[in-house]
Amino acid sequence: MLLQHATWPEVETYLKTSDGIVMPIGSTEQHGPIGLIGTDALTAEIVAKGVGEATGALVAPTISVGMAQHHLAFPGSITLRPTTLIAVIRDMIASLSRAGFRRFYFINGHGGNVATVTAAFSEIYADASLAPTGNQPGLRCKLRNWWQSPAIGALSKELYGNAEGSHATPSEISLTWHAYPEAVRSAPMDPPIAPTGDFTDASDYRGRFPDGRIGANSGLASREAGKRLYETAVADIAAEYRKFLAAGQT
Ligand SMILES: [Zn+2]
Repeated sequence: MLLQHATWPEVETYLKTSDGIVMPIGSTEQHGPIGLIGTDALTAEIVAKGVGEATGALVAPTISVGMAQHHLAFPGSITLRPTTLIAVIRDMIASLSRAGFRRFYFINGHGGNVATVTAAFSEIYADASLAPTGNQPGLRCKLRNWWQSPAIGALSKELYGNAEGSHATPSEISLTWHAYPEAVRSAPMDPPIAPTGDFTDASDYRGRFPDGRIGANSGLASREAGKRLYETAVADIAAEYRKFLAAGQT
């Protein structure tokens, strides 16, 4: 169930049976000529909703804006500074933990968030360790990049091989098209497989990757692939969420 579609008495009842919650987190940033700007937030949310349906987990509101400074030379992209994103995550977890939630399972749609989310977890654990009452065990956070679950990694490789790339990938675009068929569109991909390499700030990124893609042939995306990716991701990640809840239970 979506937290935003629940009432407070329903959440109170839920907490009697589970202290876990799924936290979708993504980004709002350019995704090449045919990928939606919301791709990373949408993919995280699509998978999180599926995991919620499969496991009965509550799903928190999606953190839709992430760490995307390197995309700002493309219109429509929005970033939070790493310190801002850390503050958002800390405050959301503090709010939910006050109510009794203890296990926070983040489903992430954006590689650029990983370092910052991991730092936020370290801050949260430090808060617990440094609290005046001493060490406060029990609060656990986990980050799962949906595209790196074992089964999804294998499926993306099977579907796209080295045309998968790392930004505006056909897999992530396919997943959005599965959930939002009206989003399907096409445009020339020149070259078909985009360049790869490192980048620093937004100007540097646009200079190296002129249409926004990195290493990907977005034009291979399809709704059919999106359906397979969705079903595989939900099955894989729902199983992992159940293990996450079981681990550490006494
Ligand atoms: Zn993406």
